[in-house]
Amino acid sequence: MKRIALLTSGGDAPGMNACIRAVVRTALYYGMDVYGIERGYQGLIDDQMVHMEMRSVSDIVQRGGTKLRTARCLDMLTKDGQKRAVATLDKRGIEGLVVIGGDGSFRGAKTLSENYGIPTIGIPGTIDNDLAYTDYTLGFDTAVNTNLDIINKLRDTMTSHERISVVEVMGRHCGDIALYSGIASGAEIIVVPEIDYDMEDIVMRINRSRANGKHSNIIVVAEGVCTGDEFARKVQSITTYSVRATCIGHIQRGGSPSMSDRMLAAQFGNKAVRLLRDGIGNRVVGIHKNEIFDMDIIEAVNMKKKFNYELYETLQMISY
Ligand code: ATP
Repeated sequence: MKRIALLTSGGDAPGMNACIRAVVRTALYYGMDVYGIERGYQGLIDDQMVHMEMRSVSDIVQRGGTKLRTARCLDMLTKDGQKRAVATLDKRGIEGLVVIGGDGSFRGAKTLSENYGIPTIGIPGTIDNDLAYTDYTLGFDTAVNTNLDIINKLRDTMTSHERISVVEVMGRHCGDIALYSGIASGAEIIVVPEIDYDMEDIVMRINRSRANGKHSNIIVVAEGVCTGDEFARKVQSITTYSVRATCIGHIQRGGSPSMSDRMLAAQFGNKAVRLLRDGIGNRVVGIHKNEIFDMDIIEAVNMKKKFNYELYETLQMISY
């Protein structure tokens, strides 16, 4: 393959820029021509792209967001939109496409491969960690580290005032951000969409911790359950301790990527281009047990994410 393109799509995630850099630099290393498509699938449909050079990706490895910008694109869900996307690729002589994004973006990539024969490679870029086939997605580690920073600060003030803090974190329908943020911050309770919560048990845990000399409690709630405000009201209605809610929100999506996310970005981007260079498409790249691997995109999209109950139990055992 001599000419490829890449786009970022769906929600942005820290590490997307580092990954764009890895894709572009690897392609140039192999003497391939590479185009950056702006605004995700919308830019592909509208033929909005820039020719990427060595210096197009200078000074971005450390930046959050995505230099190519991203979008949610309803046109890509229609046959007409998809045909226009394919026409852009044909017109420009682009032989392969790298898509950095989440579950929805992969469905777009799968459609282009399966229905139109465009060799595509998916790179998991989403803070949610909600893709079943890979242990980690790009941006997850940074988002959790952002949460740890904030929860540390909340713990200081909650302990001073002997309060309960309800912290709402992102993740859509997936509880991983809440699970990892909760364990790593020493939160007493996490509430995730994968497990029904029992308010009586939560109050029992709070009371037990206070009886054991604790002066504050942190409850991390995944946005897929309900808002932090809503949950805080429920807790307040059955306890005499004062409760405060904090929604971390979009702060989780920004910021300089962590070492782990930069390393993933470099390896995912590099692997994606090497596959295309060898004429291989319709794959996704991921990481399992610290090894970078690739697999069929249709299989990957159809896999169902499993919640890590063992980690959940670990939290129950060590945080009280
Ligand atoms: P995040 O997990 O961060 O939200 P995402 O990639 O899952 O990222 P979505 O908004 O679900 O984000 O999808 C991004 C884009 O992918 C959509 O706006 C749409 O253009 C395209 N897309 C989603 N589903 C499909 C589909 N079934 N067929 C074709 N294109 C799709």
